[in-house]
Amino acid sequence: MDINSILRKDSISREDIISLLRIEDKKEIDLLFARACEIREQYLGNEIHLRGIIEFSNFCEQNCLYCGLRKGNGELRRYRMDDDLILNTAELITQRGIKTIVLQSGEDSKFSCESIYNIIRRIKSKGNTAITLSLGERKFTEYEVWKEAGADRYLLKHETSNPKLYSIYHQHQSLTARIKHLRFLKNAGYQIGSGNIIGLPHQTFEDIAGDILLCKRLDVDMASFSPYIPSPQTPYRNKKPADFLLTLKVMAAARIVLKQVHIPATTALATMDKNGRKMGLLAGANVIMPNFTPAVFSKRYRIYPHKKNDSDINKSLDELGRLARLFKLKISNSRGDSLKSAIVH
Ligand code: SAH
Ligand code: SF4
Repeated sequence: MDINSILRKDSISREDIISLLRIEDKKEIDLLFARACEIREQYLGNEIHLRGIIEFSNFCEQNCLYCGLRKGNGELRRYRMDDDLILNTAELITQRGIKTIVLQSGEDSKFSCESIYNIIRRIKSKGNTAITLSLGERKFTEYEVWKEAGADRYLLKHETSNPKLYSIYHQHQSLTARIKHLRFLKNAGYQIGSGNIIGLPHQTFEDIAGDILLCKRLDVDMASFSPYIPSPQTPYRNKKPADFLLTLKVMAAARIVLKQVHIPATTALATMDKNGRKMGLLAGANVIMPNFTPAVFSKRYRIYPHKKNDSDINKSLDELGRLARLFKLKISNSRGDSLKSAIVH
């Protein structure tokens, strides 16, 4: 089937997605990206959303083979931000008019259920800012307590939808458990985010198509597809980085399949290429996550090396404004909640 017919189909199959990922012809790639932008416009209008991220701890009890924060990395200088610094950073985000704060860390049980609860309460007491948690797998009872405290969203990527690969990358975790966490979070009332890493060892186009379709089955509100960047001090340090163009094709295919789901132009994309955020918008993304972590810590939040930093936040936000205008998009001043269901706040 020709690409144009696939792009116009109502229901896109696994085989169709694979055909989209295989496109090499420049004109067809342009068609793919144009269709992704058209669908973004149709379902999400011309607004893009900013989410301010705070990487508050780089301690991690997991050992994902691809990640520089893994427990087995003894060379990384670890840090935990204290509550007041987290709160001050959150305030910097809201002062910029950004209405979502993403609290991210390694899996760090030293941040107890109660301490996360208190941080959420303190941020929420200052206004109607959406809070996304991205803390890895925690106890189901903890998710409930944090929802009660006012957390709105949870970002927990499935990383790969292939159970065999999942068990290779995560020796003590299973895909089944990961999916259970995501379903629990959704049922508990969170807007959920999932997604994959593109270009990990052994991954095929079939696996990537499966990742997009798993996001659909999980009925995610946000889906993040980030390129793999090899990280020193990990078992995968000598593996090849992701193909940048393939990452863009995955994002565009995901936009076409998942429609109104929020899709970020990730920091990893911006790290791979200085035009990463721009290219991400061109491939149908509608979310950007500027990093507000104080520079001393952000440098040590080394999931992968040379991470794009927004330490000059004024400059970064100006650039994002310019980018938005370039694409005739507008930076939203709403919280950018999921458009999937009528969520009332
Ligand atoms: N500990 C939490 C949140 C921090 S990790 C968690 O695992 O959910 C956030 C994301 O970084 C992970 O979901 C993973 O997709 C991504 N990541 C880790 N190592 C990476 C690498 N080397 N290249 C690209 N993305 C990576
Ligand atoms: Fe820890 Fe998350 Fe990195 Fe895995 S991906 S090692 S859970 S920080």
